[in-house]
Amino acid sequence: MDKEKLKQANEKLAGACLIPVTERNFKEKPCLECGKWFKPLYPYMKYCCKSCAKVGMRRKQKEYSARIVKLKSEETKKWNLKHHLCPICGKGMPAKNMRVHFDCMVEMLRKGNRSEKTLRYFWNRGYTLYDMEQLARGEEV
Ligand SMILES: [Zn+2]
Ligand SMILES: [Zn+2]
Repeated sequence: MDKEKLKQANEKLAGACLIPVTERNFKEKPCLECGKWFKPLYPYMKYCCKSCAKVGMRRKQKEYSARIVKLKSEETKKWNLKHHLCPICGKGMPAKNMRVHFDCMVEMLRKGNRSEKTLRYFWNRGYTLYDMEQLARGEEV
């Protein structure tokens, strides 16, 4: 049997195999990707066509990776909150590059702390001496 004939025979066989399945007449349902109603060939069919399945699977993969990234960043945040502590209040901070809570530093200003360290903290964040006095009075800057 040559290749073409074998192919035809296979297709014929595949077609024959499909007939009883299509005759089972599963309930129509909306395609997970395009929302179009279609008759599934199997109860677990989620997409109406091959291209929808391709796009859908790819999106699922993307969503999965995004979820992993989010989980990882939440883990890191949790770790930081537990181990990376503010030197003023002793409570955890969500990020490693945060050295102290902003609110804690404002509290220092309120208490009258005008050490070079305190002033530099606000200076580095773009606050003028005037802004700092406003913060110390509890005003929005
Ligand atoms: Zn579809
Ligand atoms: Zn603090």
